[in-house]
Order: sequence, then structure tokens, then C-alpha cells
Amino acid sequence: SGPDPDLPLISERLHTIRHKILILSGKGGVGKSTFTSQLSFALAANPQTTVGVVDVDICGPSIPKVMGCENEEIHRSSNGWSPVFVQDNLSVMSIGFMLPSDEAAVIWRGPKKSGMIKQFLMDVDWTNSEPMDFLLFDTPPGTSDEHLAVVQLLRQSGITGAVLVTTPQEVAIQDVRKELDFCRKAQVPVIGVVENMAGFVCPGCRGESRIFYPTTGGAKKLCEDLDIPLLGSIPLDPRIGRSCDQGSSFLDTYADSPAAQAYASIITKI
Ligand code: ADP
Repeated sequence: SGPDPDLPLISERLHTIRHKILILSGKGGVGKSTFTSQLSFALAANPQTTVGVVDVDICGPSIPKVMGCENEEIHRSSNGWSPVFVQDNLSVMSIGFMLPSDEAAVIWRGPKKSGMIKQFLMDVDWTNSEPMDFLLFDTPPGTSDEHLAVVQLLRQSGITGAVLVTTPQEVAIQDVRKELDFCRKAQVPVIGVVENMAGFVCPGCRGESRIFYPTTGGAKKLCEDLDIPLLGSIPLDPRIGRSCDQGSSFLDTYADSPAAQAYASIITKI
């Protein structure tokens, strides 16, 4: 089949958005949604910067919860669906807003998922015709229907690039190679790799523990070998989990922590 006839409409809808960024991970549980949400808060801490988050994890939407807007509903305006605004310059769209309850499971085949993602891109009034700086795509782990849908639907609009999230563990790093292969085949530029849960400083003794085997350096070596940027290493900090459970910005609350400093450095490279 030929290209989707709606691509020009999507392109028209998204043309005022400067950076469209995919957040990818090979495995689940490495902190991808956590990273997407805290990155969006970090970017939107600058009131001049406008940010949108699209949750394309159709079967496991966690963005509404970790961004503190899970009980919101989507409203329709004359210009399409309005996303949920977490703050003036930060908006969110997720299938989570359309489900009858938190427990409702979405069991959909590929075409139906792609259809939903298409609506998120074509029918959502992301920018109110104003320029927008960043649209971040939180994707499911691995490379599946959702990733292909985003890549195909943004073919004409253009994807700025992908950020790959991993833990330092060898099995997770191996999967980064698969994500890189996907990006190459799909012609998505790679912005860089983020190593999450890299080390843990015990609040009692201040000693640093390396949680994963091999202990350190795996992501750095991978990036050197493949000549891609390592955007940063975010330590394991239980307060990040707590912020996400509360749907709040970790950086606002713990600006001086090493994890917040890692985020502050990462946003300068995106
Ligand atoms: P994914 O989206 O990759 O499946 P999540 O973002 O849901 O992963 O994160 C998995 C779990 O790890 C969550 O409970 C989250 O709060 C926690 N988490 C993620 N990153 C960190 C971190 N740097 N420090 C502490 N906990 C983290």
C-alpha cells in the first residue's frame, strides 16, 4: 500500500512544533516513562519553552499518573481535541484519559492502536496554531506497532530524533543495539543514550553502590564504540519514584540532588 493519504493533514497540524522526539527503550522497567515525564517538567521549567507529551504506550499508559493528571478528561473544541494541561506550557495526551477506570485494560490489535496514535497527531490541537518547542513521545518498550505507527505517521512532518533510555545492566545495553538498529532502518536520527539507575548513594552511610552487573561503564563504552552521544547518567534515587507516584516534578523539589543535576545537564543537549 502507498503512503497514508492523511500525512499532509498531520504535517499541517504539527508544522509549528520545532522538535519531535521519541523516547525509546529496549526493555520495560528501565525508567523510560519516568524519564519522559521528568524531562518534560525539566524543559517546561523554563516558562518560555512549550512542551507536549504524547503517550503512545496504548496498552500501558502511565504518563497521566506520573504527570499528576490521571483524573482529567479530554475536551473537544472547534479545532479538535484539547490536550490536558499540566501547567501553562506543558500539555499531555494519553489514551489513559479516555478509559473508564484505572483498571480498564486496553487489548487492541495493531491497526486499532495505530488509528488511535493517528488521532493523537491529527485531531489534537497541540499548539493552538502557536509555535511549540518540544513534543515528546513516550513509547512502549522494544519496537512494535506503536513505534512503526509513529515513524510512518511522522514521515512527512519529520522526527527530530530519538533518545534511548537504558540501565547500566548488560542485558539492557544489548537491547540498546536493537533500538539503534530500528532507528537506522526507520531513518530516525539518534540524539543519544541516557543511562538511568546508574549507582545509588546510601542516605545512611553516603557510600555509593553499583546495583547492576557489570558495575559501570557499559553505556559509556557502547556510545564510544558506536560513536553516539551519552547524554547523561541519572542515579537511582528513591525520591524520583516518589515524585512520579505523586505526579510531581522531581527537579522542583530536589534541585540540588545529583539526579536533578543530571537532568539539568541532559536538557542542554536535547
Ligand atoms: P518504563 O517506562 O521503562 O517501564 P518506569 O518509568 O515505569 O519504567 O520506571 C520503572 C520503576 O522505576 C518505577 O517505579 C519508577 O518510579 C522507578 N524509577 C525509574 N527511574 C528511577 C530512578 N532514577 N531512581 C529511582 N527509581 C526510578
